Amino acid sequence: MKSTTTVIIGAGQAGLAMSRELTNRGVDHLILERGTVGNAWREDRWDSLRLLTPNWANGMPGAPYRAPDHDGYMRVSEFSERLGVYADAIGAPVLGDTGVRRAVQIDSGFRLETDQGPFGCKALVLATGACARPHLPPVTTAVPGGVFQTTPSAYKRPGDLPPGGVLVVGASASGVQLAREIQASGRQVTLAAGWHTRLPRTYRGRDVEWWLHTLGLLDERFDMIDDIERARRTPSPQIVGGPEPVDLNSLQESGVEIVGRLMEIRGGAALFSGGLANACASADLKMNRLLDAIDEWVDERGLGDELLPPDRPLPSRVSKAPVLRRSLTDGGIRSIVWATGYRPDFSWLDMPVFDARGRLRHRGGVVDLPGLYAMGLIFMRRRKSHQISGVGDDARELSEHLQAHLDTCAVAAA
Ligand SMILES: Cc1cc2nc3c(=O)[nH]c(=O)nc-3n(C[C@H](O)[C@H](O)[C@H](O)COP(=O)(O)OP(=O)(O)OC[C@H]3O[C@@H](n4cnc5c(N)ncnc54)[C@H](O)[C@@H]3O)c2cc1C
Repeated sequence: MKSTTTVIIGAGQAGLAMSRELTNRGVDHLILERGTVGNAWREDRWDSLRLLTPNWANGMPGAPYRAPDHDGYMRVSEFSERLGVYADAIGAPVLGDTGVRRAVQIDSGFRLETDQGPFGCKALVLATGACARPHLPPVTTAVPGGVFQTTPSAYKRPGDLPPGGVLVVGASASGVQLAREIQASGRQVTLAAGWHTRLPRTYRGRDVEWWLHTLGLLDERFDMIDDIERARRTPSPQIVGGPEPVDLNSLQESGVEIVGRLMEIRGGAALFSGGLANACASADLKMNRLLDAIDEWVDERGLGDELLPPDRPLPSRVSKAPVLRRSLTDGGIRSIVWATGYRPDFSWLDMPVFDARGRLRHRGGVVDLPGLYAMGLIFMRRRKSHQISGVGDDARELSEHLQAHLDTCAVAAA
C-alpha cells in the first residue's frame, strides 16, 4: 500500500486551495483525482455556461484574477483551464485518473481503495464537491416512458433534447438558465417554480456579487447563524453569467410558461401547486430586504451621489389562473430537465460519519472523526465556502486544524 501523510480527494478549486496551504505548512500530501484538474467544470456543466460570479471574484488563493475583462463572466471551460495552470504554479501533487472507490478508517488513519491500488494516510480531506450529483425527487419514477429525462449535469446543449416541448423542474440558478436557453432554441418551455431566490444581476450600477462581498454577507460564519441547516438549504439565486437579468418576468417575456412547484405525476400528467403567487411574493420580499440593506449601507456612508439611483426590479408577474396540470402523454411535453438541486456524493465513504438524513456530520468542515476534513460544502464555514472566492479562508483555517491533528498523532506515537 502506498502511503502519504495526507490525501486530498478532488482537484477542483477546494482541493487545490487546501493543497497550497499544506505545501506552505510543509505537510506531505497527494491529491487523488478521478479525472484531471477542474474535472467537474469540464464534465458536469453545460456548454454555454459562464461563471455566475464576475471575473474579479474568481481568483484563487495567492493568484487574484489579472486580465482586462475584470467585470466579465468567463466560460467555465476557461476557468477549468485556469485551474490547471494554477495547479502547476503551486506544484500541486495531483494524481489523475485515480478515482477513490472506498475509504475506511484503520488504526493508523485511513485506507483508500482507488483505481490505482490502495493508499494509506493519517489525515484525509474530502474535496469532492458540494454539487457532485444531481438531486432527483422520487416523482421521477412516475414519468411516462416516452418522455426523455435529463439533469443539468448531463445536459450539454438544446440539440441533445428530442424535438418538442420541455418541462424544466426547478427555478434556481441552473433551472432558469436552462429554461432561457432551451426556449431560445425554439422549443416551448414550461418552468415549474417552487420556492426560489430572486436577485438582480446589478443594483445601483454594481454587480450583486460586489454588494454581497461589500456588505460582508459572504463572510457570515456558520456558527453565527440561527438556523444553519435552513441557511444551507437556501435555493441558489436566479442569475446568469452575463449583464442581463434572468427572472420569472424576463422568462415569461421570452415565451416561457411559468407554473407552480411540481407536486406529483399521476395518470400520465404533471400536477403543479397553486402556490406560485406565494413563492413569488416571498422571493420578491427577500430580494427587496437585501436591496433595502444595500440602500441603508449607501445612505449611512453618504455615497448616494456616487452610485446610480435605486432601480428595483418589478414585482414578479403571476397569472391569476395558474396552470395546475400538463399532460405528459399528449406529445406536448417531450422531455423533462430535473433542475432540482445538487448534492455531494460520499457513497464511497465507508465510515460512521453521517446523520439520520445521510448528511456528513461536521462542524465547519471538521468531520466527526479525527483526521477527517471536508472542503467546499455549502455554507460550510462561511456563506461563500462553496464558491471560488470562499476556498482560501477555509483552507487556511482547516489546514491549521489538520496540522495540529498530525502533531497530536506524532506525540502519541513517540
Ligand atoms: C452549474 C453550477 C455553476 C456554478 N457557478 C459558480 C460560479 O459562477 N461561481 C462560484 O464561485 N461557484 C459556482 N458554482 C459552485 C462551485 O464553485 C462549483 O460547484 C465548484 O465546482 C466547486 O468546486 P469544488 O472544488 O468544491 O468541487 P468540484 O469542482 O466538484 O471538484 C471535485 C473534484 O473531485 C473529483 N472527485 C469526485 N469524487 C471523486 C472520487 N471518488 N475520487 C476521486 N476524485 C473525485 C471530481 O472529479 C472533481 O474534479 C457553481 C456550481 C454549479 C453546479
